[in-house]
Amino acid sequence: MNSKGTLIVISGPSGVGKGTVVDMLLKRLPDTVLSVSCTTRAPREGEREGKSYFFISKESFLKMIDEGGFLEYSNHFENYYGTPKFFVEQKLAEDKNVILEIDVDGAKHVREVFPDALLLMITPPSREELIRRLRERGTEDEVLIESRLKRADYEMSRSQFYDYTVINDDLEKTVAQIISILDNRRKGLK
Ligand code: 5GP
Repeated sequence: MNSKGTLIVISGPSGVGKGTVVDMLLKRLPDTVLSVSCTTRAPREGEREGKSYFFISKESFLKMIDEGGFLEYSNHFENYYGTPKFFVEQKLAEDKNVILEIDVDGAKHVREVFPDALLLMITPPSREELIRRLRERGTEDEVLIESRLKRADYEMSRSQFYDYTVINDDLEKTVAQIISILDNRRKGLK
């Protein structure tokens, strides 16, 4: 696809603060939109349909897979997560940057379909800090936190597939670092 927009993939373990980083990027970067994923998991408190996710049934998700409606999808924590293809293609064609907040398996697939995508992995300053943030979030019980930690270890072990790893210690610095990565890329410095 010949467009000026960049496909920006942001991954990182649950609790690392990806959502906040993405919100700040969207406010600061011109012509940049977020792709809203579909999921079969239940909404958490405060999550809104069409903003956090499109919350759909497993049947609808499987149907959308059959129809080729996803750019990528993956299945973990016993739920499906997927990126609707149409929105991403349309926005890139309009020369917009599109942010995907997706897991490492999805990122790998995106790399195959869009070799020019920019893959960013966001990690916590330490595993202890990640545990603290997950507990602080308070939306999940300990068993679920355990499974998210296991998944976090898996995600972080895949960071070598990414173009950059950014440690989210200080939010402002993290966002500034990502903006500078994008600026350099645009200038062709990479
Ligand atoms: P959560 O349930 O905490 O919202 O998300 C769990 C994981 O699913 C996170 O790592 C998140 O980045 C990932 N995720 C969210 N949407 C998608 C998607 O569309 N595709 C893929 N592959 N992963 C996703």
